[in-house]
Amino acid sequence: MKKRILASSLITVIFALIVVTCSFIALLNIKEINKTKELLEVYNDIIIKNNTFEDLSEFTINKSRVRFTIVDKSGNVIKDTENNNLENHLDREEIIGAFESGKYSSARYSYTEGINVVYFATKIDENTVIRAAVPLNDIKVFKEMYMKYYFIIIFFVILLCIGLSLKLIRAIIYPLKELELATNKIANGDYSRRVNIHTNDEIGSLANTFNNMAEQLQLKIIDSMDKQNKLEAILESMESGVIAVDNKQKVILINPYAKNLFGINENIIGENISEYIIDYDIISFMRDIPEIETKEIKLMHPIPRELRIKKAPIINSKKIPIGVVLTVLDISDIKRLENIRSQFVANVSHELKTPLTSIKGFAETLKYVEDNNTRNKFLDIIDKETERLTNLINDILILSNIENSNKMKEEGFKAEEVIEDVINIVVNSINTKEVEINFDNRGIKELLGDRDKFYQMILNLVENAIKYSKDKVIINIKAYDKKNYSYIEVEDDGIGIPKEDLPRIFERFYRVDKSRAKGGTGLGLAIVKHIVKMFNGEIFVDSIVDKGTKFTIKIRKTKKLTDVNI
Ligand code: ADP
Repeated sequence: MKKRILASSLITVIFALIVVTCSFIALLNIKEINKTKELLEVYNDIIIKNNTFEDLSEFTINKSRVRFTIVDKSGNVIKDTENNNLENHLDREEIIGAFESGKYSSARYSYTEGINVVYFATKIDENTVIRAAVPLNDIKVFKEMYMKYYFIIIFFVILLCIGLSLKLIRAIIYPLKELELATNKIANGDYSRRVNIHTNDEIGSLANTFNNMAEQLQLKIIDSMDKQNKLEAILESMESGVIAVDNKQKVILINPYAKNLFGINENIIGENISEYIIDYDIISFMRDIPEIETKEIKLMHPIPRELRIKKAPIINSKKIPIGVVLTVLDISDIKRLENIRSQFVANVSHELKTPLTSIKGFAETLKYVEDNNTRNKFLDIIDKETERLTNLINDILILSNIENSNKMKEEGFKAEEVIEDVINIVVNSINTKEVEINFDNRGIKELLGDRDKFYQMILNLVENAIKYSKDKVIINIKAYDKKNYSYIEVEDDGIGIPKEDLPRIFERFYRVDKSRAKGGTGLGLAIVKHIVKMFNGEIFVDSIVDKGTKFTIKIRKTKKLTDVNI
């Protein structure tokens, strides 16, 4: 660009100089020829006036001698100062002109001398014409000393031209370079970059427009980055998966929850989704005609889960679907709860039905029994079944009460006192078995929670210890603090629990052996487990068949609890 501007301006100047010089020389030439013609006319007039046709050698122009020719009416050369033997000159235009009008001049090629010559012919009388001539070459338009000045001027003009061109280059190239630099910086992410050009011309206005454009671009980019960040934050914190794919199933967007759900650990933007989600149902659901639709799918890989997937088309500005967005909800827990609930209802119905059927059967038979002994036997059975029914309903109510209470009472109580209350009640109630309860109280800090629930929990464990023992039972209860935990152990020397049943004994309605049910509802340990959970604790069981069982409750002391103690 720089070289081109310099070369173009130099060419323009040189061309202009050539044109000007040529025109100038041409003008000077014409002026000089006219001057020469005038001089020749004067010489002719002097010669005619003084009648000195014999001596014509003194006349010079620019140190070169003037040639004189005298021609008669027929064109014959009477005299010529340079040539003696000359052809007829009647065809020469200045001779013809002079005979016709008295005086005539011309500047033309001389056939005699073979050079360009300036002529002036003057009529002496009706029969003779005198013609003065001087070679055009001898007319010095430029004197040598002027040539020197001419070249000096040319040199300075070219120098000036180079200087001005460089200034022009700087005026054009600098802003262009600045604009190029700013464009590059902006393209590389430096949106705050502006150009620093304050000229009052087209370039200045271009720079202004550029800066305005950069300002708008920066605002738009900041705005879109803000939106992008918000969107990313929302997507990342969402408790459901979001996947967007284009029409070729290439991933446009996937949030961390969805990645986690499908066990994807890498960046899969731009990859085909079917390579990462190995589930035909999901992939074919994605491929189907994009309409808003919801489907429940059972995912098998990487972890079996129940998913509810909602699909919506992504529509572009021309209202053409360009992909689909899926929102994936993990409904495994909801499904599991639904299952537990329906199973619970089935179990409750079943458990209620058994004593009710029995009661109904015996009550109906009673109408026809007249024997008092049998009657009393039947009434005893009805009484027992009613008690079982009452126990069952009580346990169900306790369980539902625990499950429904969102927040437990937060009262400080002494666990030892509660344990002693339970022991008193159990020992003083009518027992068919010989019961011995030892309480090893090593001191336990005040617990925070619902005292009644804690009571229920210990009572259930102690009652089970009695229920599942032989005729004589020794129950050892131990309460102690260790580090940040309070421990309560309830150990018996009863019938024990088979190893394979241990993992299931805390389930609702689970009884180790229905034949040894001993009137139990199968809900006692489920209630215990719930209460332990409410106390933010854990329960462990160790058991050996025919040796005995030990339940250990571990409760974490809360900060609040410590505050209470202070
Ligand atoms: P239930 O009301 O039938 O006693 P639980 O939920 O309290 O129901 O107990 C579940 C099962 O665990 C019982 O059926 C019983 O077989 C067993 N079990 C509970 N505690 C003991 C224990 N201390 N010794 C032996 N078996 C027990």
